[in-house]
Amino acid sequence: MKDCNCIFCKIANGEIPSATLYEDEEFRVILDLGPATKGHALILPKEHYANLYEIPEETAGKSIILAKKMVTRMKKALNCDGFNVLQNNEEPAGQTVFHYHMHLIPRYEGDNAFP
Ligand code: 5GP
Ligand code: ZN
Repeated sequence: MKDCNCIFCKIANGEIPSATLYEDEEFRVILDLGPATKGHALILPKEHYANLYEIPEETAGKSIILAKKMVTRMKKALNCDGFNVLQNNEEPAGQTVFHYHMHLIPRYEGDNAFP
């Protein structure tokens, strides 16, 4: 763990318990603490990379493949009407936790989750 002050390092590696939807050797998928909608989840690599600039291509590739698997599974489980998959880099773009993560945001007809 490169940055031991990073909350997502601690969550991804199981040091801090979380509502985990999926885990393998490289990733953990958790429920967001402040969900935009019901089922809002985050894909976290267990290794620390601050953002998309830093993450190795192979890990970035695996994270999008995992996003595809998760939204397919979550769509069935939640019966949602759509999905936003998004990923913020740097503060002006809305990043608040500086450990790479992808948001999986289920959308529901008329949910008004975003302006
Ligand atoms: P960002 O704004 O960096 O793209 O997204 C950070 C996300 O992490 C936010 O949606 C926020 O609600 C979520 N978050 C921040 N701290 C925690 C935490 O300790 N646990 C969980 N599960 N989510 C968190
Ligand atoms: Zn980290």
